[in-house]
Amino acid sequence: MKAKLQTLKPQVPMQGDRLPVMRPGYGFDATPRDRGRPWRRKRAAWLAEHPLCCACEAKGRVAVAVIVDHVVPLWRGGADDASNYQSLCGPDHAAKSAREAVERAK
Ligand SMILES: [Zn+2]
Repeated sequence: MKAKLQTLKPQVPMQGDRLPVMRPGYGFDATPRDRGRPWRRKRAAWLAEHPLCCACEAKGRVAVAVIVDHVVPLWRGGADDASNYQSLCGPDHAAKSAREAVERAK
């Protein structure tokens, strides 16, 4: 049996300033929200259960998620609970945020 696993490029999440996680009110996604200890616990629990980036998964890639994203942004009325969470890697979250910034500016 021939193994079909490919070697993937490492996608180690950036730990520098470009990673907008855990910074309240960052960038264009500055909807006021709970970002205290309860959120951190929820976020950690979510990532433990959903450790892979779902956007990468959809593209047939595997990447470790570092961000719990709201599928429907809070500013568009999305729920701030597990029904509206998805795991994203840094690059996919940045791409989604950029797309949403364009929409939001309209
Ligand atoms: Zn991704």
